[in-house]
Amino acid sequence: MIKDILNNQRLYFESNKTKDINFRLDKLKTLKKAIVENEEAILNALYKDLGKSHFEGYETEIGIVLEEINYAIKHLKSWSKNKKVSTPITQFPAKSYIVSEPYGVVLIMAPWNYPFQLTISPLIGAIAGGNCSILKPSEFSVHTSKVIVDIINKYFERGYINVIEGGIGVNQQILEERFDYIFFTGSVNVGKIVMNKASKYLTPVTLELGGKSPCIVEKSANVDLSAKRIVWGKFLNAGQTCVAPDYIIVHKDIKKDLIDNMKKYIIKFYGNNPIESVDYPKIINKTHFDRLNNLMKNTDVIIGGNIDKSKLKIAPTIIDNIDHTYPIMDEEIFGPLLPIITYKDYKDIIEIVKKHPNPLALYLFTKNKDIEKYITNNIAFGGGCINDTIIHLATSNLPFGGRGTSGMGSYHGKKSFDTFTHKKSILKKSNLIDIPVRYAPYKGKLKLL
Ligand code: NAD
Repeated sequence: MIKDILNNQRLYFESNKTKDINFRLDKLKTLKKAIVENEEAILNALYKDLGKSHFEGYETEIGIVLEEINYAIKHLKSWSKNKKVSTPITQFPAKSYIVSEPYGVVLIMAPWNYPFQLTISPLIGAIAGGNCSILKPSEFSVHTSKVIVDIINKYFERGYINVIEGGIGVNQQILEERFDYIFFTGSVNVGKIVMNKASKYLTPVTLELGGKSPCIVEKSANVDLSAKRIVWGKFLNAGQTCVAPDYIIVHKDIKKDLIDNMKKYIIKFYGNNPIESVDYPKIINKTHFDRLNNLMKNTDVIIGGNIDKSKLKIAPTIIDNIDHTYPIMDEEIFGPLLPIITYKDYKDIIEIVKKHPNPLALYLFTKNKDIEKYITNNIAFGGGCINDTIIHLATSNLPFGGRGTSGMGSYHGKKSFDTFTHKKSILKKSNLIDIPVRYAPYKGKLKLL
């Protein structure tokens, strides 16, 4: 069956319809229309899967996607033009240009945490690039997956865009097939499986993975504003965000002030009992709920820590006195637990972060430009913010992606178009003149070079 879907898509691609820029523009507009017309269904599904309030669902999923579509519609004509480049004098007379051509049939595999945005956002790049796409949403966000199936089936031809639902067994079958590009968002472990499978056909991949993203609060930081922005970024989606601040590294002199302010903002945002707040999401499933509860065991919980098993909710939780020997520092937390590590000298920060190399994101709160330069120059990370959290991913002008264990490749804005197109370099030579130096016999020609 998967083979049939793929064969259909190949036929569709080979019809060359998707190479027409007006076709692509039309499909981007259709996608936008589909989202706008089904906004309520999408928001309801996100609420059912993750307890996301409609505001949060719009802010972090629908809004971001609509912005990306608008950006692609605005720029697609200029992105897709052949790009002329200069030709070295040694090639004279000739012209050189680069053609951005679609890969063909692409696979987009998405996780459950932003199940709408992380399925549809890569699709925008795939459409803009002129590809046919197979979408594979996560089996854990069932309601959003269903809405995606409904929308895609209603607004697009099956040969052009197809959604395949299913768990590990289905994923494994899909990955046995040959695609022209695989765009995967998910965990490091599954990322390795995907890359391994892709190697069978040498299929190019983008891997958007996770990792432990540090949040550094330096002595000169505006503590009140830092606390507010950290609480927002960490507890959005109950911490189930790939770029959530994973742990805090704070200077010892401002730690107490930071904790007091974070407590103030947790109450301000979610009330005295956040697990009852309608604005505070739930944990995706029991497995993750249990995993997070285990991470809290034998730690110094100073704020939160309370849970509601029936609703799968864990309150925003701050854990003090952590070092690298705690299990919570072994893996990406991916939930609303925020451990705090204290530092004395800013040069120690690098050693702390290097225990988990190449984080997906890094956040630094500081007013000190020298320290800003020191940290950003000396730590390798995917991307991040100075004096804020998360929002670097909501800017179409900034490519988003990891490095090393947090991923490879990037997307958003023009980078999405570039990711989903092969750059075909062409040198067009004139027939008028033919400079003979390059041809044999070579005797005596070396001195001409
Ligand atoms: P996951 O790796 O378990 O699942 C991602 C996708 O892979 C899903 O579609 C799933 O069905 C499929 N899958 C799962 N197991 C598989 C297997 N054995 N073989 C083949 N396919 C399989 O990830 P998740 O739990 O859904 O998401 C959480 C992870 O994703 C976190 O590590 C997070 O940091 C990361 N993430 C990264 C980004 C990013 O943009 N870099 C965004 C969101 C989430």
